[in-house]
Amino acid sequence: MLCNDYYIRKLIGFKGIILEQLETSSDSMSFSFSLEIKTHNCPKCHQQTSKVHDYRIQMIKDISISGKKTYLYYKKRRYVCNHCNKKFYEKNDFLPRYQRMTSRLIKYIITRMKSVYSVSDIAKENNISPSTALRLFRFINYSLTKLPEVISIDEFKGNAGGKKYQCILTDPQNKKVLDILHGREQHILSDYFRKFNDRDKVKYFVMDMWQPYKDIAETYFKNATIVIDKFHFIRQVTWAFERIRKDEQKKFAKERRRYFKRSRSLLLKRMKYLTPEEIDQVNVMLTTSEKLQKAYLLKEKFYDFVDSGDLESAKKNLKAWYMFVMSCRLEEFDKCSRTIFNWQKYILNSFICTYTNGYTEGVNNKIKVLKRNAYGVRNFWRFKNRIMHVMN
Ligand SMILES: [Zn+2]
Repeated sequence: MLCNDYYIRKLIGFKGIILEQLETSSDSMSFSFSLEIKTHNCPKCHQQTSKVHDYRIQMIKDISISGKKTYLYYKKRRYVCNHCNKKFYEKNDFLPRYQRMTSRLIKYIITRMKSVYSVSDIAKENNISPSTALRLFRFINYSLTKLPEVISIDEFKGNAGGKKYQCILTDPQNKKVLDILHGREQHILSDYFRKFNDRDKVKYFVMDMWQPYKDIAETYFKNATIVIDKFHFIRQVTWAFERIRKDEQKKFAKERRRYFKRSRSLLLKRMKYLTPEEIDQVNVMLTTSEKLQKAYLLKEKFYDFVDSGDLESAKKNLKAWYMFVMSCRLEEFDKCSRTIFNWQKYILNSFICTYTNGYTEGVNNKIKVLKRNAYGVRNFWRFKNRIMHVMN
């Protein structure tokens, strides 16, 4: 079928093309075309030529049209220079060098990768192999060059590149993912941060209670205030409380366990958020064990400290909590209070600034979805690029 149809040319959308053939089947469309003959400058001697040497047909994949796989058969022309006899391919603006797909398809796939869909789904949708889709990430570069004023560091269980935990760096002030590191060990962090020469401008370093982070912050960020994120120090208390709750619940005979329906969520919830009904339920649970009762009060008392409006009242409330822990004599809380005490200086810093790991937590949730859709992460660098691409 010979066609010079205006609409088909519109459909392909490239400038200056000569359509030669259109074939359609139930699931695909194929267009054959060449470009109009044009004067070219010889790349070697720069003389002008429009003398055709030969043609080569190249199959190119393009964005699918109405759900059909789209193939372009491009009759690629070689010109020959009259002057120096150099043979060279004509210029075009739709096919990047060394690619077998159009630049707009590449652009489209890269945009699709911003979703949390799996690479294999996106590849399938675009009629390419997953490895080709992944290779397109070469066109994107996400390396961090400048440090922000606030850095938040956290880890997530990525199981990538042979390591269980990966490290995520974010800028909570501007809500940006800065980078993903393949591990959270000191030498990895050290190698990473050493190369920045603007480290002095970092004012806050927000982290959890992981010693290597603190060491790194003290070594590399001399002007930064180290802040333990609220979520992370509250978690210490939650863990202590949970250990006691589980132990105590185990002690009860089966028939009394019915008192403990939804016990975990009810007991962990802050008292001030409970409905009157829920308060009754909690009271029933607490009457069963004195130890549980003490643990509950310790947890609630800790929240009084968390709610402190300023640094001075935070110091006072924390001191009161330590005293209360001592008087209760619960091993789990003694241990927890020692940990809190060791990190106290940095925990209290959370009362002088508003930066938290909240943004990072949100990112971590998205990473979980990505990980699930990726069916296991073998290549860390690809996974990292994908995360950066989706988040930024
Ligand atoms: Zn020439």
